[in-house]
Amino acid sequence: MRLLALASFESSCDEQLQPPVFKRSSCYFCSSVKLADMVSHDLPAAVAHLQQTAETVALESLVGCAEDTDRLARWPAEQLRAIAAAELMGLHVPRNLGGHEQGLTALVAVTETLAKGCASTAMCYGMHCVASAVIAAKRTSFHEENFLRPIAEGQHVTSLALSEGGTGAHFYIPQLKMTHADGGYRLNGSKHFVTSGGEADSFVASGTTGDGDAGQFSCILLPKQARGITWLEPWQGVGMRGNSSRNVNLEDVSVSEEHLLGSEGDQIWYVFEVVAPYFSMAMAAVYLGIAQAALDAATQHIQTRRHAHSGQALSDEPLIQHKVGELWMEVERTRRLIYHGALLGDNGSPRALTPILAAKAAAGETAVKVTNEAMSLGGGLAYRENSLGARLLRDARAAHVMAPNTEMLKLWTGRAVLGLPLL
Ligand SMILES: Cc1cc2nc3c(=O)[nH]c(=O)nc-3n(C[C@H](O)[C@H](O)[C@H](O)COP(=O)(O)OP(=O)(O)OC[C@H]3O[C@@H](n4cnc5c(N)ncnc54)[C@H](O)[C@@H]3O)c2cc1C
Repeated sequence: MRLLALASFESSCDEQLQPPVFKRSSCYFCSSVKLADMVSHDLPAAVAHLQQTAETVALESLVGCAEDTDRLARWPAEQLRAIAAAELMGLHVPRNLGGHEQGLTALVAVTETLAKGCASTAMCYGMHCVASAVIAAKRTSFHEENFLRPIAEGQHVTSLALSEGGTGAHFYIPQLKMTHADGGYRLNGSKHFVTSGGEADSFVASGTTGDGDAGQFSCILLPKQARGITWLEPWQGVGMRGNSSRNVNLEDVSVSEEHLLGSEGDQIWYVFEVVAPYFSMAMAAVYLGIAQAALDAATQHIQTRRHAHSGQALSDEPLIQHKVGELWMEVERTRRLIYHGALLGDNGSPRALTPILAAKAAAGETAVKVTNEAMSLGGGLAYRENSLGARLLRDARAAHVMAPNTEMLKLWTGRAVLGLPLL
């Protein structure tokens, strides 16, 4: 039934000779659905089902809003509500709390699919998933009742607040001070570029009770309503404009000790067991989705754009066929690397580290390359202000800035291959 509907949707796209595909995002998206289906043959049944649910949400609730989300730099509240209504918010929440208790493969499959509809929404969703995996990792009954259960019920959005202006790309060296006070913690410092800043219901923040050496930090939950939290200027990014990636000051913010995740100082465990794999996979999936969306848009344009003097479609040009083949190879080998790392990670394989480290770097490079090439293949239509191609290119560029950035990840991948310590 569903396949039939998609097939007819696609043929209605093909009938148009020169559609402005770089504006009509709902049109290009139907071809990306076919590609998602191909990948889902390799997925466990439960993950394939989640991916199909994500595809429905992307088609019905994300694609149509993506342009406005970008233009207005508007946090995607409605889109996240649609994701919640489809029961996807509790992807990593244990089953006994109402969640799916899924791992990295599901994170990649769902986030990639959402990213094809709207990259900003997928980024907010990805950060929510990473933070919820961090909360679930060493949960207490306090975390279960106040955070994980509401997350699974779609009532609570969370996010990650690790990076700081002071230490920048070195997100693993927080300077946020956590002092013991009144049987809990008092927090003083700042965080920068917090996805869903000022919007999410809670944030997993990193802070230090000591001197802030690399790896010697703790993770703590910050409820949105805690006193002393001041969100700074609204986010106006070049790309990922719906992300509300805002800076925040924390002045004498008090939270009870129940908000601590794990034990003080056991963050090396958190970083390597949860933050790094989940963050790397979530971000890799976002950028993979962007690359696929750009390739789909370019492909559709090439298939439908015809020159009046020859009657030939762009797709009749051998040079363009070659270029499309090259881009497809780029996207598909990146996808294989990412899913390979996710699967090894889910199986607890010691070989997972290298592909997990490499995944975000590869996805970032692929997304920037493919969106850039798609801009050329899309011709003048793509070069128009706020075209789909332009948005995807701007969104893709965030990959190289977001820590750990591409260069750091390549360095760490090399160290992992050589058996050297990462930091
Ligand atoms: C859209 C967006 C969303 C974000 N969301 C979040 C979030 O949800 N949570 C969060 O905690 N953070 C988030 N961040 C922050 C992000 O992860 C980075 O920490 C931050 O963008 C980098 O900070 P900076 O500009 O101070 O970088 P700087 O430290 O000033 O570095 C600038 C550049 O120098 C290079 N560089 C720096 N150090 C090295 C090195 N050792 N090796 C190689 N190259 C290096 C890199 O190219 C880097 O991009 C987000 C950022 C963006 C843009």
